[in-house]
Amino acid sequence: MYQPLLSICIPVYNEEENVPLLHQAIIDVVGPANIPTEIIFVDDGSKDKSWDAIQSLVQKDPRVRGVKFAFNCGETAASDAGMRHARGKYVMTMDADLQNDPKDIPAFIKAIEQPGVDCVCGTRVATRSQGDNFIRVASSRTANWVRNALSQENISDAGCTYRCFKRECVDKLKLYRGLHRFIPTLLKMEGYTIVEVAVTNNPRIHGESKYGVWNRLFKSFHDLLAIRWMKTRILGYKVATELDRTEEISG
Ligand code: UDP
Ligand code: MG
Repeated sequence: MYQPLLSICIPVYNEEENVPLLHQAIIDVVGPANIPTEIIFVDDGSKDKSWDAIQSLVQKDPRVRGVKFAFNCGETAASDAGMRHARGKYVMTMDADLQNDPKDIPAFIKAIEQPGVDCVCGTRVATRSQGDNFIRVASSRTANWVRNALSQENISDAGCTYRCFKRECVDKLKLYRGLHRFIPTLLKMEGYTIVEVAVTNNPRIHGESKYGVWNRLFKSFHDLLAIRWMKTRILGYKVATELDRTEEISG
């Protein structure tokens, strides 16, 4: 069976124009960089021709895999399904809209291969205003600030879902709707080490953003309170001694 180094998991909701462009952009990077890759597109119940686009890519390129949901289940569910299908040593999540630039993939690989690193998070801080308008940048920055303040966290850009994990981290994740924004915090709670890399933020040329200010700021505020509560209830036990004679039992 093909054993890729990198599994790129891409949630797709009404991104028919972006899917083939993103595929080409990824191949143009991972080919010359010699990164054995699989690309898993998860169609989250799109109403346009995204699934047709995914199907024709699978026919053209055996490194592409497709998963189709029966109906729209949300970005967290689509990312989760992609990550659970991944076979690579490293698992990456990336938006389908080309705002995350595949040119940054080698920097993620370099960072995740450093000793002791389990997760690499993209952070759009320096280039934010190139790809998004004022309202989006302001609401995303506010959401990031509130998240960090209320969950005593120091993730520069939790709203950026361009990330790379060691695959064993994915097995530890139990996600709920909306929690894709908190994956770095959830992994830190499991004892994993996170580092950040600066990433490009391109403008969205095709299709529309699926979130407005309401989603970004207010809906995710509820999720934040849940995460804050979870952080105060971590079990965090450490076994000092253990007594066990069961191996003496025969039969
Ligand atoms: N997405 C999805 N299901 C949804 C909403 C969004 O799979 O219900 C996908 C979408 O196609 C994109 C990613 O999740 O690949 C992030 O969505 P979007 O780019 O609209 O969010 P933004 O970057 O504007 O926050
Ligand atoms: Mg996007």
